[in-house]
Amino acid sequence: MSGVHVDRDACILCGACIDACPFGAIEIEESQLIITDDCRLCGACIEACPQGALSMEESRGAGAVDPDDYTDVLVFVEQDAGRIHPVSYEMIGKGLELARSLGQKLHCIIAGDGIEEQAADLLYYGVDTVYVYDDPALRCYRAEPYTAVVCELVQDIRPNIMLIGATHVGRSLAPRVATRLRTGLTADCTSLDVRENGELVQTRPAFGGNVMARIITPNHRPQMATVRYKVMERAKRVDNPHGAVIKRTPTSELTSGIEILDIVEAATEASIAEADIIVAVGRGACNERCLALATELAKKLGGVVGASRPVVEQGILSHTQQVGLSGRTVRPKLYVACGISGAVQHVAGMQGSDYIIAINKDRQAPIFEVADLAVVGDVNEVLPHLIELIGGRGGHGNRSAS
Ligand SMILES: Cc1cc2nc3c(=O)[nH]c(=O)nc-3n(C[C@H](O)[C@H](O)[C@H](O)COP(=O)(O)OP(=O)(O)OC[C@H]3O[C@@H](n4cnc5c(N)ncnc54)[C@H](O)[C@@H]3O)c2cc1C
Repeated sequence: MSGVHVDRDACILCGACIDACPFGAIEIEESQLIITDDCRLCGACIEACPQGALSMEESRGAGAVDPDDYTDVLVFVEQDAGRIHPVSYEMIGKGLELARSLGQKLHCIIAGDGIEEQAADLLYYGVDTVYVYDDPALRCYRAEPYTAVVCELVQDIRPNIMLIGATHVGRSLAPRVATRLRTGLTADCTSLDVRENGELVQTRPAFGGNVMARIITPNHRPQMATVRYKVMERAKRVDNPHGAVIKRTPTSELTSGIEILDIVEAATEASIAEADIIVAVGRGACNERCLALATELAKKLGGVVGASRPVVEQGILSHTQQVGLSGRTVRPKLYVACGISGAVQHVAGMQGSDYIIAINKDRQAPIFEVADLAVVGDVNEVLPHLIELIGGRGGHGNRSAS
């Protein structure tokens, strides 16, 4: 089980490795050095061995496959009552870019009940093949049947890359599929690139957003990634679709421990992720007057109010309004940051905005590095001016991103 190799000819049983092992994972039995299952592969024994008798075994890991057996990109298209989640179009946009740069194809899988029309429409986004599982058991998302059909398709068509939106459904489905297929999964990627050899370079924030980790999955396929809504560019509609829809019949019985008795539509709040204009308030603008001014400005512009995390943590605005790494990712046409310093975790959620206005009294504030227009000043003074400037013009109306 251990990945440490012992060269029995070189080992003189001096015990240096036993003393060096912090996990007590090395023993001598019948004049032989034994590495037990307590080994954590820290490598301390290798460094301690005076004979160079220990080395790390080259392991490609359980379930390693030959990457050459896998080709093309597969996107999981999420639908709910026939409505396709907009993140799926963003996954198609990115999937197309990755597939074309490798000279490969882009396929989609969509599962549901009575979704033939939606499946056919996906071809208008440049998709090469849409695989459809249309079955009453797939009417609503349930982990077991959805995992079953995704896994059976992947095992059949062997995609090199698989992309899934990081929605509630995607976050439930992706790890199940990855575990069953014994492959790697990188969640909440902010950027995806592909190397000439087909390796997917998956970038995502790590250590609270202070480091951007670049992750590869060299020995397992498909290379799986989830991406949050509004992080990637949406695929454009094409006039002349060229692809094909292929109906699939599940090969296994689609069972689930969950039985759906009734479906009641929950009241949904308009998500800031859909907004074209966001006026966001930070700690520097979270007094009552500033909040009222920000709300008035948002109203005049036809936008919504967003917030940095401290404002949400103080219970002033709701978590659904938080922008950033642990909140929502947004891509509005206009983002007005009021009294927000521009911490990496906040910027990660709004830097894709088309135009950023930042108001901050500190001219060194990092938010100015991503701002198109920097206003150095006190929000209490700047916001009334802005509102006055806009005057009676307001109310452009927010457009939905879908
Ligand atoms: C794992 C992790 C996840 C996180 N996720 C998020 C996230 O999703 N979203 C998020 O926002 N943060 C997140 N954070 C917190 C983040 O690190 C920052 O602490 C936070 O973004 C700071 O919010 P802020 O800019 O409002 O406050 P501050 O950093 O305190 O900045 C306030 C700013 O207001 C300015 N200011 C003060 N008074 C005025 C005034 N009168 N007029 C004009 N300017 C003024 C100041 O100059 C300052 O730049 C996360 C942190 C961690 C560790």
